[in-house]
Amino acid sequence: QYEEKTLLVTGGAGFIGSNFIHYLMSMDQNINIINIDALTYAANLENISCFNDSKNYSFFKSSICDKKGVSDVIEKFSPDIIVNFAAESHVDRSITDPDIFLTTNVLGTHNLLNAAERHGIDKFIQISTDEVYGTLGDMGYFTEGSQLSPSSPYSASKAAADMVVLSYFKTYDLPVNITRCSNNYGPYQHTEKLIPLVISKCLKKEAIPVYGDGLNIRDWLYVDDHCSAICNVINNGKIGDVYNIGANNEIRNIDLVRKIISCLNDKLPSLNLSYDLIRYVSDRKGHDRRYAIDSTKIRNDLGWKPTVNFDEGLNRTVDWYLKFFNISI
Ligand code: NAD
Repeated sequence: QYEEKTLLVTGGAGFIGSNFIHYLMSMDQNINIINIDALTYAANLENISCFNDSKNYSFFKSSICDKKGVSDVIEKFSPDIIVNFAAESHVDRSITDPDIFLTTNVLGTHNLLNAAERHGIDKFIQISTDEVYGTLGDMGYFTEGSQLSPSSPYSASKAAADMVVLSYFKTYDLPVNITRCSNNYGPYQHTEKLIPLVISKCLKKEAIPVYGDGLNIRDWLYVDDHCSAICNVINNGKIGDVYNIGANNEIRNIDLVRKIISCLNDKLPSLNLSYDLIRYVSDRKGHDRRYAIDSTKIRNDLGWKPTVNFDEGLNRTVDWYLKFFNISI
């Protein structure tokens, strides 16, 4: 389907970007993928080192904020499609050091849009997040029409980027789509994030920090299902539209942590982990209580649906991290 198309992927050495490159390469070896990544602390080139010798894959170390770097790559390869994953993505870091979030997530996205508009492309896909909508109470779901009400510098920078993306559609007719996805999980995620953090703490039998009362709810999607949704939006998304992506998989943080402990006990009974490892710590500032995505639009209009149920996805993820940490079952 993507034959003879060139895709510029930004942030392809990070969690979702590298999974997306694996996903594309497994689907269609003829696609041409250009990956730009600044290689921040969150990147790991090992994630995609298996493609180093592939003819249809090239990597460039560059920041999306670097005007010349971005322009040169776009001029050289004339991508048909740009998928912008590159971002500072960790909410806790955005609370202690917000500057870089505004720079990368807003100005970097603008730099890409500007270069894309000058050069001309078929589609620009902005990978956004459900966090732009802020928090929900016990009831209800975020739809694409929900008000943007971000709580952290991270989510505010993503919401600002979304506005700039839409302005390029309205002002310059740049063909754009925005996807807003719920929490992803799967292989290749940095160990600062909840699921890999819990796994690594369990393996070291260290205290597992849980914010506040642990009752915050997140809606989880297996990363391959996110990748299939993005491909669907590339091919079929209505220009200028926003698509929510989610799997209706709401779970309280504390229940997720217990699930991971149980899963590890099943796989490695000798670990003999107890819930006593859980330590409640002071709540994150501005901590959103609940996120839940209504993804009716992408399901009905584009025919997308998730395929990996939570237990199966978590099982795969735990297995992957056991290998990553060199633990044999
Ligand atoms: P990540 O932190 O794992 O990866 C981000 C990648 O971007 C890294 O490889 C990093 O080196 C690169 N990067 C950072 N600054 C850059 C810059 N200035 N120029 C070029 N590259 C730069 O993040 P992730 O979890 O893979 O998230 C990818 C995208 O998906 C982000 O835009 C994020 O907002 C969005 N998103 C993530 C989730 C999630 O659960 N992880 C959910 C919804 C949306």
